[in-house]
Amino acid sequence: MAKIGILTCSNATQDPGCSSVSCLADFRRRKGMFALYPQEERLTLTGIINCPGCPTLAGPEKLFQRIRALTDFGVDAIHFSFCMKALCPFKEKYKTALEEACPDIRIVQGTHEEHVTPEESRGG
Ligand code: SF4
Repeated sequence: MAKIGILTCSNATQDPGCSSVSCLADFRRRKGMFALYPQEERLTLTGIINCPGCPTLAGPEKLFQRIRALTDFGVDAIHFSFCMKALCPFKEKYKTALEEACPDIRIVQGTHEEHVTPEESRGG
C-alpha cells in the first residue's frame, strides 16, 4: 500500500478556488501521475495541503513547516499538484529540498492529466 499526500499551489486553491477535483478524479481513476503505481498496489490518499505561499525571503522553510501536515502522517509519496507543476517557479528547488530533508518520501511532480473536464471529474 502506498500512502499519498498532495501539495497544491495556494495561488490556485485560494482566490481561484480550485477544490482539487481534477487531482482527486485522477487519483480515483489512477490516471495521470497516479498511473505510475503498480495496478495491484492499493493507494490511500492521506491528505491534501496547500503551499503556504510564494517564499519571498523565507525560502523553503515556510514549506517545511507546512509539509509536516503530511510527513508526520507517514506518507510514502508527496505529489506536487498539476497546477504547481505548471505554474510554480520554485518547484525544482522545493523538490530537491524535500528529497534531502525526507529521503524516504518519494516526491512526484504532477497529479492529474491535462484537461480533466467537469464531466470527467464526476466519473469513477
Ligand atoms: S511557491 Fe509555488 S506552489 Fe507555492 S504559492 Fe507560490 S507558485 Fe504556488
